Amino acid sequence: MSVPDVTLNNGVRMPQLGFGVFQVPPGEAESAVRTALEAGYRSIDTAAIYGNEEEVGKAIRASGLPREEVFVTTKLWNSDQRYDAALAAFDRSMGRLGLDVLDLYLIHWPMPARDLYMDAWRALRRLYEDGRVRAIGVSNFTVETLRRVIDESGIVPAVNQIELHPRLAQAELRAFHAEHGIATESWGPLGQGKGLLEDPVLTRLADKHRRTPAQIVLRWHLQLGCIVIPKSVTPSRIAENIDVFGFELDEEDMAEIATLDTGERLGFDPETMNMA
Ligand code: NAD
Repeated sequence: MSVPDVTLNNGVRMPQLGFGVFQVPPGEAESAVRTALEAGYRSIDTAAIYGNEEEVGKAIRASGLPREEVFVTTKLWNSDQRYDAALAAFDRSMGRLGLDVLDLYLIHWPMPARDLYMDAWRALRRLYEDGRVRAIGVSNFTVETLRRVIDESGIVPAVNQIELHPRLAQAELRAFHAEHGIATESWGPLGQGKGLLEDPVLTRLADKHRRTPAQIVLRWHLQLGCIVIPKSVTPSRIAENIDVFGFELDEEDMAEIATLDTGERLGFDPETMNMA
């Protein structure tokens, strides 16, 4: 299965579909990532806080794939947003991953009340200028926090990874990203296994296309132009979630899925999330 790339705003190419490992326990992460790489995934999304960077690194090495064929993302945790702490946290992540150069480093949450994300962004900029990471971006940033990053640093994040699924379609942020050349990356793309995939609109579209509801939803993300990183530890689902390049939703299908947008969040609200 071959996944198309998107080109980030600095020219770096990133697979449009990758494998997420949030809540994959360390004991299972290595085999899940190995299964994903065997199924054709070439992008892995982890984070310092997920506690499985070491196993992600092991699985990548064990795959025997050339380093440049696997795109690796990790994230700076909230307790490390001060400049020096961020540089040190990056070194620790790289030590656990066993990598020399990272593909994408993200600030995990803005935590506007703490007002440290500009410090963290300066650290990411330094890592980028030093050639230690190929692209830098953010996660869970709002229009307001993105504006400040762009205005104060003059550097546009390559990616904003945000909660995005049919019930939270994020039209305003997607429009802002498009205007500024920021790639939108969807987290919780399948609604985190909390009922979205049983929605009758999705099960009907699944019947129509002879696909599964998960495949319909992933296709919707891809056709919106988003980067998507579904998670599963079940080998059959890992394979199913990348098998989404042999069909298309038509305009009516896309419009029907758009009716599911209630604005309902599954995760924290980025304006108030303040947990370090
Ligand atoms: P997800 O929407 O990918 O849902 C995963 C769950 O969906 C699985 O645990 C399983 O229950 C179900 N599922 C997966 N494939 C399925 C299939 N084919 N059929 C039926 N059910 C299926 O949720 P997620 O893991 O929260 O998000 C994906 C990735 O996004 C994470 O692993 C992580 O890498 C990233 N993420 C980032 C943030 C952030 O703050 N930046 C937050 C959450 C997740």
